[in-house]
Amino acid sequence: MNRIEEAMHACRLCPRMCGADRLHGKIGYCGEKAAIVAARAALHRWEEPCISGTGGSGTVFLSGCTLRCVFCQNREIAAGHSGREISLDRLAEIFLELQEKGAHNINLVTPTHYSVCLAEALKKARTNGLTIPVIYNTSGYERPEILREMEPYIDIYMPDFKYIDTETAAKYSHAADYFEVAKAALAEMVHQQPQPIWDENGMLTKGVLVRHLVLPGHTGESIRILQYLHEIYGESIILSIMNQYTPLEGVELPREISRKLTRGEYKRVVNAACRMGITQAYIQEGETAKESFIPPFSGEGL
Ligand code: SF4
Repeated sequence: MNRIEEAMHACRLCPRMCGADRLHGKIGYCGEKAAIVAARAALHRWEEPCISGTGGSGTVFLSGCTLRCVFCQNREIAAGHSGREISLDRLAEIFLELQEKGAHNINLVTPTHYSVCLAEALKKARTNGLTIPVIYNTSGYERPEILREMEPYIDIYMPDFKYIDTETAAKYSHAADYFEVAKAALAEMVHQQPQPIWDENGMLTKGVLVRHLVLPGHTGESIRILQYLHEIYGESIILSIMNQYTPLEGVELPREISRKLTRGEYKRVVNAACRMGITQAYIQEGETAKESFIPPFSGEGL
């Protein structure tokens, strides 16, 4: 059995460790069998400036998700099971095509449940001329053991850090252990990439960029998260404090998060970050909370 078959036949790739036999067509909590399914591979210009640059980030949106938050912005692919099956060889070609198109990096969105397959495709693409940095763009809900396997292939980790409270994590992501899990995962990511490295154009080539989406009515939790991240990691990580929370139309949500974040709430969190002495952070300005910022999952580039 090769590594992919071994991982897929009783899958424990993510902290759910549900043991699904994906190799023989069973579906785990993540919603996916062994075959890689993706919904879009294209240049994406809506990431942080050090990731999108002028040319765009070569973003591959993978289907399925190990977390499945109730407010998911990529619901169509995370839980909707849309997308197209692609082979490892085709995926390696896609990486090279994105590089050809001028992508600053390869950006693997929701990679966790395909990690071992992605490693194989990246190995192939590197052999065939892939030179741009590779980003592991994750919910933060990861097993350190699996991240260690990814170390040779990943240049930039871009995890979310969603919750610090057990109740919030359980209510919105069915993962009461989120904080403990994400804490250990982040420690491993920073161990692998201990300092951000930028090129001469200000593009990130190595490092860890941690994203935190502020939820309506949860500014206190956001401030505690930033406090934690700043105290433990200081300037060795880059932070991105996001205001773009969008309750999608037609999705039933708990009442307290069925609205957008107010300007005042976001300001409160950003001001608290400034008072803590956080200097290396992206903040968002203007109207970013729009469904139109969610790309069409049309199968482009697959
Ligand atoms: S990646 Fe999917 S199948 Fe594997 S343990 Fe996690 S939820 Fe289960």
